[in-house]
Amino acid sequence: MGLFGRMARGLSRWVPPAALAHAGRPAALFFHGVEAATDDERVQTNHHEITGFRAILRGLKDFDVLPLTALDDVLAHPQRHRRSLFLMSDDGYRNTLTVAADILDEFRMPWTLFISTAHIGTGKPNPIFLARLFFFYAPSASYSLPHFPVIRLDSAESRAKSALSSIEKLRFLPAEQAEETLTAMKAAFAPEVLNDLVERFASEKFLTWDEVRRLAARGVTIGAHGDSHWPMHDRQSSSWLAQQAMGAKAHIEAEVGPCRFFAYPFGNTRDVGPAAWKAVRDAGFHYGFTTLAGSLPGGRNPFLLPRYGLGPRDSHIASLVPFLPAGNRRVRAWQAALG
Ligand SMILES: [Zn+2]
Repeated sequence: MGLFGRMARGLSRWVPPAALAHAGRPAALFFHGVEAATDDERVQTNHHEITGFRAILRGLKDFDVLPLTALDDVLAHPQRHRRSLFLMSDDGYRNTLTVAADILDEFRMPWTLFISTAHIGTGKPNPIFLARLFFFYAPSASYSLPHFPVIRLDSAESRAKSALSSIEKLRFLPAEQAEETLTAMKAAFAPEVLNDLVERFASEKFLTWDEVRRLAARGVTIGAHGDSHWPMHDRQSSSWLAQQAMGAKAHIEAEVGPCRFFAYPFGNTRDVGPAAWKAVRDAGFHYGFTTLAGSLPGGRNPFLLPRYGLGPRDSHIASLVPFLPAGNRRVRAWQAALG
């Protein structure tokens, strides 16, 4: 989360929702997965626990949560939609079907699922999950990974420190180089040990295409979140960016049906370059969502719309939403810089 998101989250704890009832603007909010319980927050960073997730949905009860098909109207007439929100889930974790979908149905809240197509039904884990397994579970040793200085993993402190700095560095590598680093990270484990770890963290499992179709049949809008789950920044090749946008769209349309919406993996200022949003536009998507906090429309570029990432304990969300328009100045400046 950016500085703005942290500030808004801090401030909103002190403001009663009623004081802000007329200050609203439409906004998009997203989460990842939902689990009954998580047992290692260093690894399972993407998942809400059920109690926290329910508290967030209760906090949204006085808003109009709309299906994403209403986006054209909301962007054309934001003043008519002061209390309108869109709810979204990123990546395509299996627990969105087994856990989140029933809770969202119970609250009668429509939602959109953005899937990274290369991970659906293939057993290919999220690269960041694999990197976290390496930093926190690889045998104590010094490691020479491609594109990295020597990494020493021994104490809990060295592991946490390495994870923080190295994942940040990994994220900004071109996809092909990151793949080489990840292959070396996996090789640090005996195959059965890695297998056991992947099984232990079932929260990280992705849906199959049949399961995605079941969600679509329940009314969930299916959008694209790239092909492989990796940032679309300036260091990526144009052919790789085209595969992320066009490839993901074609795959969803072949398996599920028409796909108009895109959300960028990671989706912050350093994860999305000028060529990325153009690749999304040229692939035929109508809209693209970032992870910059703001309200809709946020700026003029429909391929760089703001979106607020729900924290695990955002139960005071009703007081936070009215602060989101304050993020739009940053959204507009960034859109202008991206051309
Ligand atoms: Zn994601």
